[in-house]
Amino acid sequence: MKKIFSILSFILPLVNQAQTNPGLQKAIDFTNENATFLKECYQQLHEFPELSTKEVNTASYLKKAIASYGYEIVDTLGYESFGAVLKNGNGPVILYRTDMDGLPVKEETGLAFASKATGMKETETFPVMHACGHDIHMTTWLGLAKLFAQTKKDWNGTLVFLAQSAEETAQGAKKIVASPAYKKIPKANYQLAIHDHAELLVGEVGFCDEYEMAAVDMMNITIFGKGGHGAAPQRCIDPILLAAQYITEIQTIISRNIAPIDPGVITVGAINGGTIGNVIPNQVVLKLTIRTFSKETRDIIMNRLKEIGDNLAKAAGLPSNLFPKYDLLDMSIPSVYNNPELGKLLKESVQKQFGPTAIVKIKPMMIGEDFSVYGQQLDSIPSYILWAGTLSPERKEWSLKQHIEIPALHTSKFAPDFEQCIPQNIKMMSAVLLDLFKKGNTTTLKKIK
Ligand SMILES: [Zn+2]
Ligand SMILES: [Zn+2]
Repeated sequence: MKKIFSILSFILPLVNQAQTNPGLQKAIDFTNENATFLKECYQQLHEFPELSTKEVNTASYLKKAIASYGYEIVDTLGYESFGAVLKNGNGPVILYRTDMDGLPVKEETGLAFASKATGMKETETFPVMHACGHDIHMTTWLGLAKLFAQTKKDWNGTLVFLAQSAEETAQGAKKIVASPAYKKIPKANYQLAIHDHAELLVGEVGFCDEYEMAAVDMMNITIFGKGGHGAAPQRCIDPILLAAQYITEIQTIISRNIAPIDPGVITVGAINGGTIGNVIPNQVVLKLTIRTFSKETRDIIMNRLKEIGDNLAKAAGLPSNLFPKYDLLDMSIPSVYNNPELGKLLKESVQKQFGPTAIVKIKPMMIGEDFSVYGQQLDSIPSYILWAGTLSPERKEWSLKQHIEIPALHTSKFAPDFEQCIPQNIKMMSAVLLDLFKKGNTTTLKKIK
């Protein structure tokens, strides 16, 4: 009873506000009438997650459903990605993306519909879980697609619902943009996505104008030396010692070469070299990730990584053919830049429907998101990723009382309060889309970057 009361007390203010807003009222009615559909959709997607690039059944489930609502499918966008387009007269083109992939994590939520799925990565088998909440994104996406197909009288323009493979491995968006079929997708005036947030309350929407997430680069660096007996270092050039100097020295790039107000991260996540204590090896391999916001900072870091590596090798007495080898992996993605003028419009929509407490300012993070790829082409399109709360007030209160940490994204116990947050996401995105459609396609938003 207490639970019902607290849910009602959460919903009632929205219902009262909705009396003056027919668009929101329709979204509320839709989520009530489709509660079973949304629950089943979420549970199905949650129970059967698939790894990046392998989202075969997930994509086919979503595709079948969205095609049945009257959307035109644009296929062959790389891996399992596809687009679904609904044209509805003159008006702006709005692209809304969901990601589809799960993670190689063994689920430990104890839910009745917990995943027992496994998936292959190269030759190894892994347990798979929707530990990043892409199942929340997909259910919101599908629900919203159904709602907008049923309420075509209320808006004019074109909706592009994009379902993307392989967000977690940063491969999907690049593949879509490079695919010939991408040209069949109408060019968007606005591009939107949501990402669930483990600690925001259901109904809270997180905004981060301008740089929100970092550009990601992964680099393997091979440090060479001259191997020999561990007891005769004078006859060798020790790559282990060089690697140790290099790892320490490159942290001065962050502290001395880039401005203190400009964020940057260099992490050496792996060192592989040597076999036994009394042998100096010929080489050591370091595996790095580099995170930045601006192109200028990224350029400084890339140049300094080479300068420091080459000069340490030279100082150690190595010839230039044994200077380090720098392999930038084909996994780079640009930083996510949320257009602040679009952000202003989105904030106004959310605040108008759900009040000022729904708006939460979120700080930028150095994680990556390949949604940035769509907004980073030459004629950059105003784009924004919103954070959407998944934590019910009851669970927050309970966790605080029990001193239990709320499970974060990418962890085995992440369990969003889907029965509350999915309907709320649909209402919120419906409000946002209806307002953007009303703006027409004569947007004066600056195409920044
Ligand atoms: Zn993730
Ligand atoms: Zn994610």
